[in-house]
Amino acid sequence: MQPLYVRVQPEDNVAIIVNPGGLEAGSVFADGLMLRERIPQAHKVALTGIAKGTAVTRYGVTIGYAVDDIQAGEWVREDRLSLPEPPALGSLCEVVGRARASEPLEGVTFDGYPNADGTAGTRNILGISTTVQCVAPTVEFAVKRIKQELLPRYPNVDDVMAVTHPYGCGVAINAPGAEIPIRTLRNMALHPNFGGELLVVSLGCEKMQPSRMSLPILSDEPWIVRLQDEEHRGFGDIVAAILRFAERRLERLNQRRRVACPASQLTVGLQCGGSDAFSGVTANPAVGYASDLLVRAGATVMFSEVTEVRDAIHLLTPRAVSREVAEALVREMAWYDAYLERGAVDRSANPTPGNKRGGLSNIVEKALGSVAKSGRSAIVGVVPPGEKATVKGLNFAATPASDFICGTLQLAAGMNVHVFTTGEGTPYGLALAPVIKVASRTALAERWPDLIDVDAGRIATGVSTVEQVGREIFSMILDAASGRHKTWAEHWGLHNAPALFNPAPVT
Ligand code: CA
Repeated sequence: MQPLYVRVQPEDNVAIIVNPGGLEAGSVFADGLMLRERIPQAHKVALTGIAKGTAVTRYGVTIGYAVDDIQAGEWVREDRLSLPEPPALGSLCEVVGRARASEPLEGVTFDGYPNADGTAGTRNILGISTTVQCVAPTVEFAVKRIKQELLPRYPNVDDVMAVTHPYGCGVAINAPGAEIPIRTLRNMALHPNFGGELLVVSLGCEKMQPSRMSLPILSDEPWIVRLQDEEHRGFGDIVAAILRFAERRLERLNQRRRVACPASQLTVGLQCGGSDAFSGVTANPAVGYASDLLVRAGATVMFSEVTEVRDAIHLLTPRAVSREVAEALVREMAWYDAYLERGAVDRSANPTPGNKRGGLSNIVEKALGSVAKSGRSAIVGVVPPGEKATVKGLNFAATPASDFICGTLQLAAGMNVHVFTTGEGTPYGLALAPVIKVASRTALAERWPDLIDVDAGRIATGVSTVEQVGREIFSMILDAASGRHKTWAEHWGLHNAPALFNPAPVT
């Protein structure tokens, strides 16, 4: 393979090395540029001399300032860059509505399970919600028996899932921020893939009583099993009660069949984990292309991860459809700035050792690559953490970047298909919705052929275009939603546990 780099914008003065294994000193590119030192794959090479104190530019944006003179052909490592100030939030909402209008894409459907509330399931799962950690092992015990003894009799039901968590007691339940974990659990109980069948297991004395979840009454049938109720004599009785409640729901869920549903009943959540310098030029732009197609087809699409969009917020607010949406975006950024400040950290706490190994020097570079997932559509809504997405089109769901918390909050928002891009690689998966994993590098897709669903690394080597991979991801989303395609995480049953975002104190 000839020495190859990817420059994102013509004005960039750095580019990333494409060749697997990196390139040795003395390697010469097609344009005559010669490497002055060995540079690993995905790491940055200076395309021109960059004087001390001047801007280092990638994605057409300043990602840092040179801390010393950098010569053309040198490795631009993270320690040769200083971090620029984040964009000020003050005057960002003046310019809005600048996103390109897009043609509707008519007639796109998937085979799903329609729900009474207008949503549709992509899987048919019995969900058991819990109010408090105290009941978790009991519910897990019951779920094991349900899977062994009951589920085989109901072949149209895909799975049984206990929504267990460490919340519910020993927490300041009226403190500011406590509404986030509470509404997350509420909205997860109402997830489209649970088919409107409510079942909540409570202990009895916990702070988060079932009524705190403000769940709608969906039928006359009892839907709460309370362990401390007088009627239960011992553990055997308790487990038997959970199994009895479960069986009635399994009978109804088993009657359901997939039918053609409009794409407007899809809610697709996007996130990245273990990103590298390729993420922003391969996997994320391809997902962005798929996202634009989904939006045109009428679906709801969410991108997230506040700390990874914070440094690109000035590129996002002009795409807001209205001043209200831009202000909501800025409000979520400001809330998070204050949250980090309270914890005595800032946004520089985000990149991981793996991100840096993958060539990402700092959070600015990571953010510019991350927002490529959002494509070019107008941003029509902002979903606060734990809330449901209610506006169709491209939404920003404000969540931490933590893979598990982001996934959980996107599930609470109604996500029924998840798309996850990765550079370093992670076997991440969710029990409640299919997760499509997109690799930013071919080397990762080849090393993990039974974990990675799509290889977007082909874009860097010129084998495929962003459009081709984007269309492939779009088709896979529809196939996964329809149950025709099983993702690798589903195949192996890899389910990361729900992780709540609780910014309020514990007691
Ligand atoms: Ca993440």
